[in-house]
This record gives sequence, structure tokens and C-alpha cells, in this order.
Amino acid sequence: MKAKSSAFRILMLTVILLAKIPNAGRAAEPAFSWKTLEAEAVSLLSRYIQIDTTNPPGNEIKAAAFLKEVFDREGIEARVIESSSGRGNIYARIRGDGSKKAIVLLNHMDVVPADAKFWKEAPFGGSIKERVIWGRGALDDKGAAIMELLAMAAFKRQNISLKGDVIFLGTADEEAGGALGAGYLTDKHPELFKDVGLVLNEGGGIRIDENGRARVYIVSVAEKTPLWLKLTASGMPGHGSTPGNSLAVNKLISALNRVMSYQSPIKVVPEVQKFYADTANEETEPRRTGYLDLRKSLEDPTFRSQFIKDPRDRASVSNTIAITGIKGSDKVNVIPAVATAELDVRLLPGEDPKAFINELRRIINDESIKIEVTLSFPAATSPPHPEAMKVISDFAKTNDPGAPVVAPLLRGFTDCHFFREKGIPCLGFMPHRSTPSAEGLVHGVDERVSVESLHFGVRAMYEIVRELVAE
Ligand SMILES: [Zn+2]
Repeated sequence: MKAKSSAFRILMLTVILLAKIPNAGRAAEPAFSWKTLEAEAVSLLSRYIQIDTTNPPGNEIKAAAFLKEVFDREGIEARVIESSSGRGNIYARIRGDGSKKAIVLLNHMDVVPADAKFWKEAPFGGSIKERVIWGRGALDDKGAAIMELLAMAAFKRQNISLKGDVIFLGTADEEAGGALGAGYLTDKHPELFKDVGLVLNEGGGIRIDENGRARVYIVSVAEKTPLWLKLTASGMPGHGSTPGNSLAVNKLISALNRVMSYQSPIKVVPEVQKFYADTANEETEPRRTGYLDLRKSLEDPTFRSQFIKDPRDRASVSNTIAITGIKGSDKVNVIPAVATAELDVRLLPGEDPKAFINELRRIINDESIKIEVTLSFPAATSPPHPEAMKVISDFAKTNDPGAPVVAPLLRGFTDCHFFREKGIPCLGFMPHRSTPSAEGLVHGVDERVSVESLHFGVRAMYEIVRELVAE
């Protein structure tokens, strides 16, 4: 009895004290609840998916307005920056005391097209069925935006004091190269990123097995660089019945034939060497031993021919050329004056696009073929950020003990390079929990995310960012 009554007195005293101190910890802020926040995450993502931001044309301004409304409601300062008509970007910021550098939580608002007739659920319906949220952008990249936005809302609602600012940046145009999104902002508004020390972006995440157990944490620090080219051949136009001696289509085919037979040299950049060594344990022999020193192993012709059979492995150790478009005449009986082909070239970090084009000219060996560059970025390896890598590793250790943190070379590209080019570290890590088969949903049919993965992602984003900028 005695113990009880003294416990009661302490409890009453605490209640009185808490009542007198405003914001004296969580007990004084019953308004904040993870359950509420998680429910909001699901409904927000569903509504966000319903805003069709297929690029082209993008129309991200509608998405920017939608997100701004949420930030306004949370009392977080936010502005919409239009790069061209209908192409909106959103920039929201929570202020810290400035003793640490700011973090940008990056995401893109545009999505790739989706053809409804191949989907089980309407791609822009945002339907929620059996704890799964369906729709284009659920993974790439609207789900990430919701994790970032609600992590910021959690800071704001709990009044957590921050050392560095936290910035939410939703961009336009990423799927088409980012010129009207991250490219525009970093170029025209460098003041927005003046005190930024880190950008967190898509490009990595948590791979789980079919039982939901985390296999690996992927944080991407380097990307291959796109070099998109258009080849044009010219020749004598005429009637299909009487082909001349110098024909555009024939010249183009000869040139492409030489491009196809070209074998890109193998080169193992340091990031790739490290990634394979870090993941060697996951493999069976002889790959396990081979991966420990990939550069050396690839000198062995037997190992090499086995290794490059897998297109993903091959693309990790060489520049690639994909012929993706060919155009001649629109009419079967008309010989065109010009024929064109589009090449999607992806270069390894550190490659010089100009040198590659010179090499291509040598391969094509036909001065009359015109080579135009339609998209090219410099090499995009992130400046290191050991603190962020440690925070993510610690998070992995606590939440998924045994899951290694690895940094592969991203074969695709993201908005990260715009920041890396300015010397700002940009890490590819969004805490989606997805199985390897879910990779095919990104840009594919039936893109969707589980409610559990989204809930986990909101909490993970919050905890990681808090470690990095909170007091
Ligand atoms: Zn994306």
C-alpha cells in the first residue's frame, strides 16, 4: 500500500510539473501519434498517385500545388518554383539552428507513362487493396516523397529542435533528364543549396526476401552517365523501284552494324571493385572467390566469359551502347534522303564523353554519318559522406541485424548528378522494403507498394534524418 501511494504522489507531481512546462516532452503533446501519421501516409500516397504527372508532358505544377497544401497545413514554409509553363518544382524547409549543414530530401514528381490496358488496377487510381497501394509512382518516386514529407511533419509536430535545416525538394522532369527540374534549380537558383551538406535521393533501398527478411541495404554512391546520340545518314532519295548507289538507309545500316560488332573494353572502377568484394559472401563458388578481386578475376578468360553473360554484370564493368530507335522512310516505295538512329550510350564513371564519341567515329568509319549529342552529363560519383553512411549502417544494424550495407554502381541515372557536379554528396537510399521481383515494377506494369513498406519507410526516413540533423 505504501509503495502504491508514494508512486501515486510521484505521478501526480509529474503531471503537475508537465502541465506547467509547455512542450515538456511527448507527454505534453498528445497530438503526435505514429499511428495517425502512418494512416496519413497511405491516404496521401493514394491521392498523390491520382495526380497524373506522366512525363511528357509532366504537368508537375498540379503535384507541386498538392504537396504545398500539405506543407501549409503542417506550418512548414514551402514554395513552388515554375521552370516553364506547367512544370512546377516544390521546395519546403524546416529551419535548424545552423550549427550543422542542411540536408535535402530529394524526390521527383513526374512519372513515366503507363498503359492502363496492361494493368490489374488503374495506374492513376491510387487504389488500396489488401494492404497494397497501387499506381504509377508508388515506388518511383511518389512513395519516397511521402516518406520524406511525413518525416518532416513528424519533426514539426513534435517541435524537435534541429541543428541543420531539412529541405524537401520535389522536382519536375527527372524521367526526361531533369533539365526543367533539378537541372534548372541547381543552375538558376544555387542560393537554395548554399549550405547543403547532403542530398538523400532515390537509387537504393532495402532488398528483402519473400519472407520479408532484409537481405541487403543498398546505398548508391555512383551512377553511369547517359550519352544519348543521334546518327544521321544522308543519300540519294528516289523511287523504291530504282535504288541508286548511295542510299541513306544502307549507309546507316552499315554504320550500325559496325557499332553492333564493337566490344566495349572491360574496366572495373573502384566503386564496382568494392561492391563485388562486399557482396562476395552472398555468392557460391567460383564467383565467391572471383568477386573478392574482380579486376584480377576478369583477366581469366573463363571467368570473364561467364561473368559478362549477365547483362547487369556486363553493364557494371563496361560502357554500353543500345541502339534504341531507327527511322527511314514512312512509305514503303519511297527511298528517303535521310535515315536516323538513336543510341542510348551509358558510360562508366570517369569516362570522357568526347573521347567516347571520337572512338565511335573511328568504329563507324564513315565521315558522312553525322553524330549529334542529345543528352550528356559529366561523370557522377558522389563526394564521400562517411557520417551518413554510418547512420544508415547503424540503422540497418538495429532494425535488420546481419543485413550488409553495400554501394553498387547504379546503371541508370537519377537527379543526383546535378548535386554531385557541384561537390554536394548525394546518396541513393530510400527506405522502401522490396523484393528483387519488385524491381521490375519500376517503370513497369502494376507498380505498387505495400502499406507496411510505406509505414516502415516513413519511420526510417525520420530516424535517419534525425540522427543526422537533430540535437
Ligand atoms: Zn525515379
